[in-house]
Amino acid sequence: MAEALKHQIEAAFDEPACATNRAKDAASRRKGCSKALTPGAAAGGCAFDGAKIALQPIVDAAHLVHAPLGCEGNAWDNRGSASSGPELYRTGFTTDLTEMDIVMGQGEKKLFRAIREVIEQQAPAAVFVYATCVTALIGDDIEAVCKAAAERFETPVIPVNVPGYVGSKNLGNRMAGEVLFKHVIGTLEPQAPGLCDINLIGDFNLSGELWQVKPLLDRLGIRVLGSISGDARYRQVAMAHRARVSMLFCAHGYVNLARKLQETYGIPYFEGSFYGISDTSDALRTICRMLADRGAPADLIPRCEALIAEEEARTWATLEPYRPRIAGRRVLLYTGGHKTWSVVSALQELGMEVVGTSMRKATPDDRGRVVQIMGTEAHMFDNMAPREMFKLLREARADVLMSGARSQFVALKARVPWIDVNQEKHEPYAGYMGMVQLVKTLDRSINNPVWADLRAPAPWEV
Ligand code: SF4
Repeated sequence: MAEALKHQIEAAFDEPACATNRAKDAASRRKGCSKALTPGAAAGGCAFDGAKIALQPIVDAAHLVHAPLGCEGNAWDNRGSASSGPELYRTGFTTDLTEMDIVMGQGEKKLFRAIREVIEQQAPAAVFVYATCVTALIGDDIEAVCKAAAERFETPVIPVNVPGYVGSKNLGNRMAGEVLFKHVIGTLEPQAPGLCDINLIGDFNLSGELWQVKPLLDRLGIRVLGSISGDARYRQVAMAHRARVSMLFCAHGYVNLARKLQETYGIPYFEGSFYGISDTSDALRTICRMLADRGAPADLIPRCEALIAEEEARTWATLEPYRPRIAGRRVLLYTGGHKTWSVVSALQELGMEVVGTSMRKATPDDRGRVVQIMGTEAHMFDNMAPREMFKLLREARADVLMSGARSQFVALKARVPWIDVNQEKHEPYAGYMGMVQLVKTLDRSINNPVWADLRAPAPWEV
């Protein structure tokens, strides 16, 4: 591994604002969080995949993967990040490197030609160029090629030097933040910076979740100056250094970026969530309070309280007919974990019982919050083998499984409804509207008559 890349990874693992890092003693902190990679470590996504996921929602940029075809096939459009305008981000661009290109040392030339072709044919706002295992191992200098292409074609060309072999998808997320900080943020100035400009960091507008929250911000006169990176335009990201406050959605992936924005540009940040009614209200309150502290009009806070009161009343009124249909039902929650506390609190707000929740990728802070919400550690687990999950569901200790797509067949085999709450989901659950959507989905799934039929003995068993 190149020395520069090694240092970047070490720096990403030694993040002073990371809760996991802070919880260690000085000796273990010196060792860093980096672990020797074992075969299969990239299952569920390599670092390149993580970087691509984080940057691809910049919708007016071209995302060019310098690799044999398989890497782009692996990473293309595997999340439902939605765009309100350009669709360029969904086109897969790759240099499609062949064995002959590698043997003949043609990689860098092919990359330069590909950048030219993309710029001439698509006129993107910028080109993100991704290194992968193959091109990093043969030593292609994508930073030099990107620099030469940017000068020649007068378009930003950003090297994303995060080959898959350096680690997990999470590390890729974090390093994507570093790429934005190093090459993009601070390169453009907004024409009219405002006192109510904010950054949203770590939201990808999956299935349009950002659009469930943005109307609330619009009503308060709050502008999303820098979106990193849901439904973002390249220029928006480049101007993120002029926001007044940052809201951080995923501390695991982006705490380094939020900290650097604070230290370099004086933008304070907080970690929040738009899942659940009270978490949405808390996030809005915190944004307004922090903006007011930095000079936004003082009436922002009473206007925010009025909006929260109106929206909460309307949401609870809409939920009223559904609540008796789901109250008391038991949920097994098996998610990536970084926002588990938020989903758990949302489910409890609805009167549901959480019988178990995974904490696989949770930080110590996340764990603390879950214990606070649930009042016990008894229902927290790091990993659950499919066999155990099946047993738990089969013994009817849970009425519904909420998880990512990989566990869906365990639920279906156990004849229990399953709801997708991972990044690939098709329904948005953010904000007040999202809560209504989640409750409708829960009701539709749990009370579907098909389950009674499925669980009844087959005619030949009677
Ligand atoms: S970057 Fe490496 S690990 Fe990731 S898909 Fe390509 S070859 Fe596989």
